Amino acid sequence: MSLPLPDHVAPLDEETLHGILHLPKVELHTHFEGMAPPGFIRGLAKARNVDLSGIFRPDGSYAYRDFVHFLSVYEAATSVLRTPEDFGRLCVAVLEESAANGVVYSETFLSPDFCGGGDVGAWREYLHAIREAADAAERDMGITLRGIVTCIRHFGPEKAKAAALCAAETAGDWIVGFGMGGDENQGRQRDFAYAFDMAREACLRLTTHAGEWRGPSEVRDAVEDLRVERVGHGVRAVEDPALCDMLAERGVTLEVCPGSNVFLGVYDSLAAHPVTALRQRGVAVTISTDDPPFFHTTMQKEYKGLAQVHHWRAEDFRAANAVALEAAFCDDATRTAIAKRLEQT
Ligand SMILES: [Zn+2]
Repeated sequence: MSLPLPDHVAPLDEETLHGILHLPKVELHTHFEGMAPPGFIRGLAKARNVDLSGIFRPDGSYAYRDFVHFLSVYEAATSVLRTPEDFGRLCVAVLEESAANGVVYSETFLSPDFCGGGDVGAWREYLHAIREAADAAERDMGITLRGIVTCIRHFGPEKAKAAALCAAETAGDWIVGFGMGGDENQGRQRDFAYAFDMAREACLRLTTHAGEWRGPSEVRDAVEDLRVERVGHGVRAVEDPALCDMLAERGVTLEVCPGSNVFLGVYDSLAAHPVTALRQRGVAVTISTDDPPFFHTTMQKEYKGLAQVHHWRAEDFRAANAVALEAAFCDDATRTAIAKRLEQT
């Protein structure tokens, strides 16, 4: 099923699709461990003698029943990532995949809870290993990565404060933001205001997951209570026209991950996904993959789906990439360099 083809849009031919898939891309919403290729995790589990057979399907992909089960599979998979060196190697594996999909700039959520248990000294060691790998990948693969320290909502506000302290202590030209992921149904956004205030005082830019599982009021809470400038997902804002107007007026950018939303059942199909409706309402939308191997997606699959089902064409994707670069948390020198790469097509 796809949306009706608008009058002004030409049908999709192979050449047009090829051009779209190979556009240089900006991706703002990925979870670092959530990008781990299953083969990478299986290899580490085998080396560590950890039995993770229950989290894989016979074809080797990740297996789970629903969102809450996904979170537990995610935590089981990430439990084999233990040392800074593991995270450095993971960085290479995920950037190879992103670069192969044409991503030239990527922001990823890093959780101190998974990198040293929230201890600042341990976090610095993990971050050092990740940065070294990312710097090498930038030279070798032409992909630029920046980190957003992320607290985990269902771990509670106290752990969030520890994550925010890790973020504040390492804020700079590489750790550029602070955010929150995890189970949106636990607690309220405002419960985490202390952590977000600490990050803001350290000059970090802010984003939080909202409006994926809970409705538009959660998105409003994110903007008003945590004063974030981007929202992870935020798609259910479409149910509240006044909220859409507010997001458009304030320039709040949504990190939309259509494949993730469809895979987890937020929407029944890609055709039912509101990404185009939000855009038509004037809301700034960008396209990302979230946890690509968990949701059996890639940036090229996302683009292909939007081209085939929502009839997005190259100019629509270019516009979304320009919005994403504008909303990226990197410094202006990096933004200018990436803008030149986007113009090269
Ligand atoms: Zn996410």
